This record gives sequence, structure tokens and C-alpha cells, in this order.
Amino acid sequence: MDERNNNGERKQDKSANSEADFPARKKRGRPKGSKNKRHECVAVLPARCVHCDSSELIVEQTVKTRKIVGAMNGVKYDTVIWRDCRCKACGRINRYRYYESKTS
Ligand SMILES: [Zn+2]
Repeated sequence: MDERNNNGERKQDKSANSEADFPARKKRGRPKGSKNKRHECVAVLPARCVHCDSSELIVEQTVKTRKIVGAMNGVKYDTVIWRDCRCKACGRINRYRYYESKTS
């Protein structure tokens, strides 16, 4: 942490419209000379509304969660979560099963 920023008022005065939210001297972006790291790019298809095919969904509630270990298309999962989601486009509710991998 760089405590030299501003004039020391940064911590007390967070709500005020000051530099608190934007520490002026904090450098943005990556430090110079950092190496490029290759990340594998994974394609993720969104859940879609069964009524109108939109993928803009808002989770309304988690219905249930079960520890179920399995694999789908070669991708392992250990948790299955049922969620009701409201479609932003048509407003209707869809129920989805999410296959997730939890570390704990
Ligand atoms: Zn819809």
C-alpha cells in the first residue's frame, strides 16, 4: 500500500466528494516490464430464456443446492444449484440447473 497519497485525509473522509475515491498518484494499469502471461481462453455459453432466447437473466432465488459430483462435456462439477431467474427481456421466470465447482 502506498500511504504517501494525497494529504493523509484519504481514510477519514471517504463519503466526501474528494480525492478519496480516486487516489491521484496511484498508477493505473500494469507495472512496466511485467511479462505477458498466457491465459487459456474458455468459451462460456450463457443460460438463455426458454421463452424469448435472451440471455439477460436476473437471479430471483436459489431453489436448492446439492453436492453432486459429475462431468458434463468433459468438464467436472461437484455442485448442482437450481436457480429461478427472471428474464430481463420478457419478464418470465425460468428455472436453471447450474453445474458448478466449489473449492470448499
Ligand atoms: Zn425471455
